[in-house]
Amino acid sequence: MPGSTGRAVIGWREMTRVKKVQRYKCRYCEYVYSPLAGEPHRGIPAGTAFEALPEDYSCPVCGAKGKGAIGKWGFEPWEPTRFRCKICGYVYDKSRGEPHRGFAAGTAFEDLPDNYQCPVCGIDPKITAALGKVGKEQFEPLMI
Ligand SMILES: [Zn+2]
Ligand SMILES: [Zn+2]
Repeated sequence: MPGSTGRAVIGWREMTRVKKVQRYKCRYCEYVYSPLAGEPHRGIPAGTAFEALPEDYSCPVCGAKGKGAIGKWGFEPWEPTRFRCKICGYVYDKSRGEPHRGFAAGTAFEDLPDNYQCPVCGIDPKITAALGKVGKEQFEPLMI
């Protein structure tokens, strides 16, 4: 493609906006690799896409359980459907949505507006006073 050079390096911020975060799950133990978290304890910094992992990458859980090395071949793309608020434990479930707030069942967490606010934290004056708005960045995917 002409003119496509010079775009090899894109910032992480830009990447999160233009490219969907793609997580991968190990078929054998259900371990989930998230590019948002990486595996810093193994030398894989946050922001590393699964595709960019070294060829000799292996599942950190299966290996630890004595199943031997499960390589990248043992992983498949995985989409979390439930996200939990780290502050209050509220769970957003894609299959339910939040119809009372205008988010129909089936609305993916990623598709919620950027100004989405935790419905539980949002009505707790103590939390809003201490933390301000509790938005999407305070939610983490549930692995199961
Ligand atoms: Zn595994
Ligand atoms: Zn909350």
